[in-house]
Amino acid sequence: MALREILIWPDPRLKHKAKPVGDVDAAVRKLCDDMAETMYAANGVGLAAPQIGVLQNIIAIDVEQRASQGEEPKKKGEGLFWLIDPVLKLGEGEFVYTEGCLSIPDEYEEVTRFGHIVVEFTGRDGKRRKLEANSTLLSVCVQHEMDHLQGKLFVDHLSALKRELIRRRMKKLKAQREAERKGEATAL
Ligand SMILES: [Zn+2]
Repeated sequence: MALREILIWPDPRLKHKAKPVGDVDAAVRKLCDDMAETMYAANGVGLAAPQIGVLQNIIAIDVEQRASQGEEPKKKGEGLFWLIDPVLKLGEGEFVYTEGCLSIPDEYEEVTRFGHIVVEFTGRDGKRRKLEANSTLLSVCVQHEMDHLQGKLFVDHLSALKRELIRRRMKKLKAQREAERKGEATAL
């Protein structure tokens, strides 16, 4: 497995539509594993391939590492699964949740999404299956990550003003990281 770099918004590569995967071969499985490793290293619960600059319809998700509805959180990896070529079959109702994104560090905003969803997808084993989720972190996460495959981020659900403020902070953050990389600045 290999750790990949997560792109930070704004980045033109995050605005492109990803392409269907089709058959799951060794290269796709390797990509799945890299995505999981990258997601856990960044402390995320979901990651879409475009976030590491790969325009393929692949999502890694593990929301069970977070405690929910009185249940204890599970160990990283126990709730891990991948959605390859996901298709939304049903979306109804509304659910508001405060979202963040690994491509937009330290920014959290309320987003309204479907409450009840049914999604068809291919697993890492190549089998087609169905997932149903109801007004939980899982239903939010699946919709958030599926947005990434369409070149859409959670800030695209916000007002233009909020999006602009976040864009400015991200540009500053990227400039700072770039300076650190070049050795021109040091975070102490
Ligand atoms: Zn995201």
